[in-house]
Amino acid sequence: MIIYIYGHRFNYELEKLTRLFFPFERVDFAQKGEGIPINDLFATAFVEEKSNNFYLSASAGIGGKTVEKKVKFSLCDITANLPEKELEHRLAALLFECYVGLTGYRPDWGILTGIRPAKLYRRFEQALDTAGADQYFKDRFLISNKKLKLLKATAKSEDEIILKSRPGCISVYVSIPFCPSRCSYCSFVSHSIENASQLIPQYLKLLCKEIEYTAEIIKRLNLKVMTVYIGGGTPTTLSASQLEVLLKKIHSCFGDNFEELTVEAGRPDTITKEKLEVIKNMGVSRISINPQTMNDGVLKAIGRRHTADDTIKAFYLAREIGFNNINMDLIAGLPTDTLDSFKQTVNKIIDLSPENVTVHSLSLKRSAAMVNQEGPLCFEEGISAGKMVDFALERLTENNILPYYMYRQSKTVGNLENVGYSKPGYEGIYNVYIMDETHSILACGASAVTKLRAEDDNKIERIFNYKYPYEYINKFDEIIKRKEKIEEFYNEHPIKY
Ligand code: SF4
Repeated sequence: MIIYIYGHRFNYELEKLTRLFFPFERVDFAQKGEGIPINDLFATAFVEEKSNNFYLSASAGIGGKTVEKKVKFSLCDITANLPEKELEHRLAALLFECYVGLTGYRPDWGILTGIRPAKLYRRFEQALDTAGADQYFKDRFLISNKKLKLLKATAKSEDEIILKSRPGCISVYVSIPFCPSRCSYCSFVSHSIENASQLIPQYLKLLCKEIEYTAEIIKRLNLKVMTVYIGGGTPTTLSASQLEVLLKKIHSCFGDNFEELTVEAGRPDTITKEKLEVIKNMGVSRISINPQTMNDGVLKAIGRRHTADDTIKAFYLAREIGFNNINMDLIAGLPTDTLDSFKQTVNKIIDLSPENVTVHSLSLKRSAAMVNQEGPLCFEEGISAGKMVDFALERLTENNILPYYMYRQSKTVGNLENVGYSKPGYEGIYNVYIMDETHSILACGASAVTKLRAEDDNKIERIFNYKYPYEYINKFDEIIKRKEKIEEFYNEHPIKY
């Protein structure tokens, strides 16, 4: 589609906004005046300024149907401390209303496309106070009342966790990018074990070396490791003895005194008594057992090889071994899932009473097999997924499993959010630190990204490891070399204790 513009440079924002309604449409821009082919999908977004007044107009159309909106305001009506940004938001809001009129679909998050809405809310609250921030989110971002309420609840809970991180605190992420098989919706670089199992021993050996090297840097910089998160992929794709080697290495390098040590056990089909015992004996405080759905038909449709019953067995096994902080991930909007079946999933999870539940919205990336085969989702599926996440919020909250952190991804079904819920006192604090960018996360393994956060000016710098295990193995020296940037960064941004 083409968006015709005039009087501004908000192309990037308008393109992101357009993707909320037309996620896989190719978007091009043209200047006002070029002939509009009104039978094709198009939009316009114009700004004119005359004697301190702004005249904004937008339209969207297809097949002869066009929706137009106009608004005039003066410089004195600007409430945000960044007038240029407010102008952008007002224009985006106008175009948003045109898309709503054209499609009949109103995304609950309005024009907000960023991945950290709580962080944005905090910024506005500091600049405008709470009432001003609420007003801006409703009037300019067009966020619905229910999402604003959720946003404020998660922002409040995140605040308490963020305050625990003191100067010099960091977290460590360790990546195990292998899975037993590939789920149809997955766009992660994870290797199915059928194709990559022979790489695991060499991968693990080098991963342990990278952990050692990272620990030396941490020691030299006098940093404190607050949380460690072993994620993937599916870390329990490793055997019990491989998990033991890895966890021993983590303790010998980073110590035992973490606020939180998580292993994302992930898929129930990889969980065994032996592995759980190793994980427990190695002091892991939090694990994930991720069903995604408790409907066997849906599990089959997404390419998972386990059943809902396997999830229940894995959960009780973990309880028997003594895990008292278990997270379970669910996904709203999975192919073939229905609102009723999702409700049953939520109810079954509540019956198990895990300490944490994370409700994701299905994210559709172009690389995922599902998108390639079946095309983009339509609005009905977004609306249905919206009802699913609303139901999860209601039922979990009733059961004192409360929202504590949130993030969003691009191209999710219904433009919805991912929310972490927990029983009070069991929040997964690493999740908050990574999403808020509270402190540096030093990451080891293939596809891992180290994120350095300066404490003096909030600057963020990233160091990327190679994505795939074979690249990680073949270019390991380069990965180690890149880690030199950590010390350079901290020399430029010393910690202020
Ligand atoms: S378990 Fe997760 S990382 Fe692995 S294939 Fe499935 S969605 Fe991807």
